[in-house]
Amino acid sequence: HATKRKMADHLRRLETMFTLTPQRMRMIVEAFKDALELGLSKSGQVVPMIPTYVFGWPTGKEAGNYLAVDLGGTNLRVCLVTLQGGGKWEITQTKYRLSEEQKHDEGQLLFDFCAECLKAFVESSIESGTIQRGAVLPLGFTFSYPCSQDKIDHGVLIRWTKGFGAPNTEGRDVVEMFKRSLEKHNVPAEIVALTCDTTGTLIASHYVNSDTKIACIFGTGCNAAYMERARDIPKISSLGIGSEDEIAINCEWGAFDSFEHEHLPRTKYDIIIDEASNKPGEQAFEKLISGRYLGEILRLIICELIDEGVLFLGQNTYKIEIPYSFDTAFLSLMESDPTDELLMIIGIFSHFFAVETTLAERQFFRALAKLVGRRAARLSACGIAAIVSKMGYLEEGCAVGADGSLYNKYPKFAERIHEGLVDIFGEKGRGITTYHAEDGSGIGSAIVAAMTKNRK
Ligand code: ADP
Repeated sequence: HATKRKMADHLRRLETMFTLTPQRMRMIVEAFKDALELGLSKSGQVVPMIPTYVFGWPTGKEAGNYLAVDLGGTNLRVCLVTLQGGGKWEITQTKYRLSEEQKHDEGQLLFDFCAECLKAFVESSIESGTIQRGAVLPLGFTFSYPCSQDKIDHGVLIRWTKGFGAPNTEGRDVVEMFKRSLEKHNVPAEIVALTCDTTGTLIASHYVNSDTKIACIFGTGCNAAYMERARDIPKISSLGIGSEDEIAINCEWGAFDSFEHEHLPRTKYDIIIDEASNKPGEQAFEKLISGRYLGEILRLIICELIDEGVLFLGQNTYKIEIPYSFDTAFLSLMESDPTDELLMIIGIFSHFFAVETTLAERQFFRALAKLVGRRAARLSACGIAAIVSKMGYLEEGCAVGADGSLYNKYPKFAERIHEGLVDIFGEKGRGITTYHAEDGSGIGSAIVAAMTKNRK
């Protein structure tokens, strides 16, 4: 009973720490809006607001066959996208898992690997008759690492993220490097556009649903993109883009509140994660939200209570004391356990961490998962609200295309974002809806390739 009471006391304490009131959320939205404006006004700001050189929305009539290569965090995907016009498409794709060695081997070898995979894919598509022999297909390259761009088919890698470190790539044009590999392997493809997963998702979502104004990714990392009026981007005023033109902005919003830490409600657990990370101070918003960190936040709470003698008394807890051993997918499983006994949670702790749990502990863990998951969704709502409010989308309402395992698989993540939007905006918040944008990053880069060809 004493332990039960201690858990209840801790739960109350943690509830206060992790709960965001509507008033607090509105303050975050205001600060977020200022950060977005600042990023548009000058380069080198905390939220970089990167112009993507994707001009305006697709018409929905884009058509034809396009290749897409998507180099993401975990997998390489090569796709053949057939745009059928009328917002319809078909995709065939093959996934290749990248090894840790490949992520750290010579950069040109990574692009050689992409070219070899694409070549094998094109050859099998020729054999099955989906691609004609002799055709040179336009290619959209989705490369989701920060690049500085000054045109659509060019991009200099600023720095590797997501655990990549291939030498001789940072500071170089990745389109040029990939082109060289395609030539070396005689791949019949011509790179016409470079995009990132978030921009791709924005364009693909709008192609199928023209109410879409914003796209978000909630996966290993988190990010958003939207369409901005060129006249409202002071930092590119010298480029002579027509003032009525629109250009997609890759916000890189995971960086919001980095370094100064003035606006976000960081707990001691968030501060531990930040200080132990390979980039302390950076990606402050992302560290409270994305799939890479949520499991770790929960693990740190559990470890603190092990140290205080509240949990797992007399058991060997070394497994759960390993940093990053608690996957965010476990939070999903814990929240969705349908049994009274919480059998799923028994399984997670006994199978992966070799510890026995009491029912009271399991209920406590489930409540913790809810606190951490709910805070992430409500903070995400703040980011979406900042863009909505900056762009004046509240009156008419708008749709937000979203992708990533956290969004797609975490129970109630979307529902909690919607609740958050209503807490921020009142009833009008119901006009902002999110939906799953399937395969956005691959399809989006094919559509961007089609848009680029049409402009030329
Ligand atoms: P990426 O962002 O690398 O392209 P994903 O969108 O699949 O890929 O995101 C991977 C992240 O999502 C990982 O941090 C992982 O812990 C988390 N994740 C995977 N499955 C789930 C799940 N069922 N529920 C919540 N998070 C998950």
